[in-house]
Amino acid sequence: MTQIPRLFVDAALHAGARLELPREQAHYLVNVMRKEAGAPVRLFNGRDGEWQAVIGAASRKGASLVVETRLREQTGVPRLRLCFAPVKKARTDFIVEKATELGVAVIQPVITRRTQSERVRTDRLLALATEAAEQTERLCLPVIGEPVTLERLLADWPEDEHLIFCDEAGDGEGAWGGASGRARPMLDLLEEQTAPSGGWTILIGPEGGFDETERAHLRSLPFVHPVTLGPRILRADTAAVAALTLWQGVLGDWQSADA
Ligand code: SAH
Repeated sequence: MTQIPRLFVDAALHAGARLELPREQAHYLVNVMRKEAGAPVRLFNGRDGEWQAVIGAASRKGASLVVETRLREQTGVPRLRLCFAPVKKARTDFIVEKATELGVAVIQPVITRRTQSERVRTDRLLALATEAAEQTERLCLPVIGEPVTLERLLADWPEDEHLIFCDEAGDGEGAWGGASGRARPMLDLLEEQTAPSGGWTILIGPEGGFDETERAHLRSLPFVHPVTLGPRILRADTAAVAALTLWQGVLGDWQSADA
């Protein structure tokens, strides 16, 4: 069966609604997917679930849709936030796309002392996340935060939020934690949460890691849980995927069959 295109639209979705698609979406449907009037399209807007629509009129200039029936009730994603220090463009793009597929609610760039790429185009990251949300069949987009400094992020910390600090340097002094100084395994922390509540943040550092002051500050805070992601140093993008996967598998929505 040919894949029915699935699009995020910023419009109310209900039976009989008529939508004019923005130019780039119309171009995608008509010229890329070569869809014509009468062809089905699946729509979601982050609020009203997923709906089946059909293309009303389609031309090079644009396309209109008529919304017909609801296919899925609206569901959310767990209260999971990824805070990461932006890295090189391609790897930051990878982090945003994978975090969207892995079901985060918020993607928050955090500027740390060793962050190389301070300039973050959040509009471009949102476009990437939207495309990933369409493909991964999410019913909502992740929120992409404007970059904040680590100090600012920690200063305004929400009451019922836990911070999982992926600390490659471990409990040892300064250098790489090694066998003795490694932080506790992330799985131990997660399995300890008998009645998980509140929100969870996973924090990943830049290529150069966190500096000593940052690590000491993080480890002094009551809501911070330093964890290791094993005996090897992972690239930031690998660490983000690994930590998000572990969290979703133990505390997240991979547990429920009816997600
Ligand atoms: N400082 C490291 C590189 C940091 S890797 C070096 O000397 O090369 C980028 C980020 O990924 C780290 O800041 C950390 O948040 C995460 N990370 C990588 N490997 C990790 C591990 N084994 N345990 C915990 N976090 C890890």
